[in-house]
Amino acid sequence: MTESPTPVAAAADFSSLPLAPAVLANLQRLGYERMTPIQAASLPLALAGRDLIAQAKTGSGKTAAFALPLLARLDPRSFAVQALVLCPTRELAEQVAQEVRRLARAEDNLKVLTLCGGATLRPQAASLAHGAHVVVGTPGRILDHLSRETLSLAALNTLVLDEADRMLDMGFAEDIAAVVRRCPSGRQTLLLSATWPEGVTKMARRFMREAQEVKLAERHAAGKIRQRFYEVSEEERLPAVMRLLEHFRPVSTLAFCNTKQRCRELAALLQARGLVALELHGEPEQRDRDQVLVQFANRSCSVLVATDVAARGLDITGLEAVINVDVTPDPELHVHRVGRTGRADEAGWAFSLVGPGEMERPDRIEKMQGEAFDWHPLSELKPSDDPEPLRPPMATVQILGGRKDKIRRGDVLGALTKDIGLRGDQVGRIDVKEFATYVAVERAVARETAKALNATKVKGRAVKATRL
Ligand code: AMP
Repeated sequence: MTESPTPVAAAADFSSLPLAPAVLANLQRLGYERMTPIQAASLPLALAGRDLIAQAKTGSGKTAAFALPLLARLDPRSFAVQALVLCPTRELAEQVAQEVRRLARAEDNLKVLTLCGGATLRPQAASLAHGAHVVVGTPGRILDHLSRETLSLAALNTLVLDEADRMLDMGFAEDIAAVVRRCPSGRQTLLLSATWPEGVTKMARRFMREAQEVKLAERHAAGKIRQRFYEVSEEERLPAVMRLLEHFRPVSTLAFCNTKQRCRELAALLQARGLVALELHGEPEQRDRDQVLVQFANRSCSVLVATDVAARGLDITGLEAVINVDVTPDPELHVHRVGRTGRADEAGWAFSLVGPGEMERPDRIEKMQGEAFDWHPLSELKPSDDPEPLRPPMATVQILGGRKDKIRRGDVLGALTKDIGLRGDQVGRIDVKEFATYVAVERAVARETAKALNATKVKGRAVKATRL
């Protein structure tokens, strides 16, 4: 894990912070025992009202690092937007909103609204008219609502710019500036960014007052990610992915390809060998993208094959393995790809396949990282003794009906455990999207579960369910 260079890391107990007892109790219920390094470094300053520019990545606990301060300043009795979080993508916005809601459980009736592009404006405007305390959204769409005057930021206390580097990469600089101009000058501004390119520091200078910098030592601590490199011929490349999977048997693997064509070929090969592999590239419909991501995140898909562009908005970390099917010529991108593996408690694998004429790529990455890579021969990969093909532990059942139909997680869980009789440990993640709900259930019972759901009622209504 990261080490904070600041001495605050020593007092990593949430109770050392000026937080209400109900908030502390809620944190305990959520299983937040100690602050993560970014939280320990940011929270004392942010809770004291300082502007912050913090270096933080997904998985570091950064959401709570800005959510707790914005919630602390909120007056739930005033139905005005008091906090705004700008995010680069809809997926991140939804994830942030969810975390804010979890952290806000200590307070009754706090309304957190997501406003992102890709959805129709009118229902969003209607939700705004009903009053929201916290808005999380993408810059373009927030600006739309400001221009139409369906959103007012006159009562704003806290502005958060989350993943500022990615927002700039995605061309949101102008939109962000226009949104900031509409915020009251007395607000607190919190900026979070994994990297600090010139654009980010410039933005901080422009929009923030005496911002305090919070920087943590680089992640990828030694031992957390085990990297291995393999030299392959062009013909060996795709079969080598299969060999890696059979040898190491990771539950979830993200396989990066440099082109869409390679994605298609690899996914086809893996599927033909009986693996559950999905692909993500180009511009899929939001619904298809949701379906793929949900299945990967809830462990009903073993391998997600993606291009960097398609993986960009994904907030997927903590994977058992990342495979660089094509090692990338961009050393920073390599570090970013590899950073998606490895969890707090377990090491992750990062495998890179280097083809003919690509040898200067790992050389450059080695130089940048200042460490010598570990090369292994392909011949060392033996299929495991396990005769079972590699299978994901879960499968996904899709229910037609989602938030729009007022379906909640608890309704689905109730139907599965009470009416259908599944054990709690047979049910995994439940994702309620706008028009559909996705439930991960133990693979062996997925088909029967879909059948049983079709015969039962969720929230008093018949539903249509299928196993994906
Ligand atoms: P984030 O970096 O905000 O995406 O957070 C990554 C995950 O860590 C989320 O699932 C959080 O709920 C969880 N988390 C954040 N802070 C803590 C903490 N102090 N203790 C335990 N889990 C945490």
